[in-house]
Amino acid sequence: MFYKSIIGLEIHVELKTESKMFCSCPADHFGKKPNTQTCPVCLGLPGALPVPNKKAIEWTILTGLALGCQVPLFSKFDRKNYFYPDLPKGFQISQYDLPFCQKGSFRLENKRTIGITRVHLEEDTGKLLHKTVRGKGVTLIDFNRSGVPLMEIVTEPDLRTTTEVKEFLKKLQQLLRYLGVSDGEMEKGSMRLEANISLRKKDSQELPDYKVEIKNLNSFRFVIKALNYEIERQKKVLDSGKKLGLETRGFNENKGITFVQRVKEEAQDYRYFPEPDTPPIRWKKEETEKIRKSLPELPEEKKEKLIKTHQLSEDYARILSRSLKTVEFFEKTVKKGKKELKPEEIANLIINKRIDINQYSPEGLVKYLVKQKRKVKLPLKEVKKVVSEVLRENKKAVEDFKKGKTTVIEFLVGQVARKTKGQADPNQTRKILLEKLK
Ligand code: ZN
Ligand code: MN
Repeated sequence: MFYKSIIGLEIHVELKTESKMFCSCPADHFGKKPNTQTCPVCLGLPGALPVPNKKAIEWTILTGLALGCQVPLFSKFDRKNYFYPDLPKGFQISQYDLPFCQKGSFRLENKRTIGITRVHLEEDTGKLLHKTVRGKGVTLIDFNRSGVPLMEIVTEPDLRTTTEVKEFLKKLQQLLRYLGVSDGEMEKGSMRLEANISLRKKDSQELPDYKVEIKNLNSFRFVIKALNYEIERQKKVLDSGKKLGLETRGFNENKGITFVQRVKEEAQDYRYFPEPDTPPIRWKKEETEKIRKSLPELPEEKKEKLIKTHQLSEDYARILSRSLKTVEFFEKTVKKGKKELKPEEIANLIINKRIDINQYSPEGLVKYLVKQKRKVKLPLKEVKKVVSEVLRENKKAVEDFKKGKTTVIEFLVGQVARKTKGQADPNQTRKILLEKLK
């Protein structure tokens, strides 16, 4: 039987705000000494009251707008109740039925549109550390991460192949970085993925009556591996005439397989109810419009601009706009060098010669490029003149060459370079020298 994969994604993104979601502890927790960035609010102590982080809310709206979402003028936080040691309050403040953003869309290169169901805001949990202390296995808890703003982006089950999944995730990561709301580093856990997958018969139009959720996928590579494994596993089950149900699976990175974690709970199991300590959020249209106006140029616009304003090829524009840092460096360099250099020359250097942009300032790069250009710019006639001079002044080297010591040619090339202050093309110099020494 032939099947088509139906894939949806849930992406958790840690926002890089200065403080946490509901308290003033620092949000940047990576690599910090455990439990040094906590307070009664993020430790869930009785009586502590949450105060929402305005920046985190605005960044969530900003991300939603960049994903083409609608922003309802009324929204609220809810409590999602469950017990786990990394969640000291016994509930997570999240959003249930009235998320900040909904019904967006995202276009892939193949022109297919992936629906964005919602973008909501919640708080991160603490982190469990499983260790061996004095020969005993123990679990320690670090609450530095507890309460860090966590944005959740949920897609419709519109993705059909792992290639689409990969492209979507890469572009989403790029978008988050352009917006400046998260570093999107998967290795640091700032971007964490879950994927839903089911299969339907190729000629069917209905969604399957089951889905399997794969949790905690912490790299792009693992998402693809886990999905490919699931596609094959589900095919076999369906081909054998058995049924698949709702379940949550983990991914074993070493074995490259998924395994059952639990049979999926329903939303009602979480007993969601409105967060009583935080009033609902009401937006005025002007306020959300103000956030919309603050949207920076997004990757696609940046790419188009490179093509239109700087006459770059589609390929060059795509490569440069992959990272905001690179494209901004390019634009600054173009500005600094506009008298002497063409944008294409600068793009060419960054892309093909693989210049490390961390080692140059835009001014430095302009100087470097101009120097490079001058080197090859000395007219042939001039180079020939200098070569004759050098040959006259270095009789000994010429004799050595004629005796068969051909390596002196490099010494002579060096002499020409010195006299021309590096403005002669070494290959051209070598050729002229060889001709004259024949
Ligand atoms: Zn705190
Ligand atoms: Mn979540």
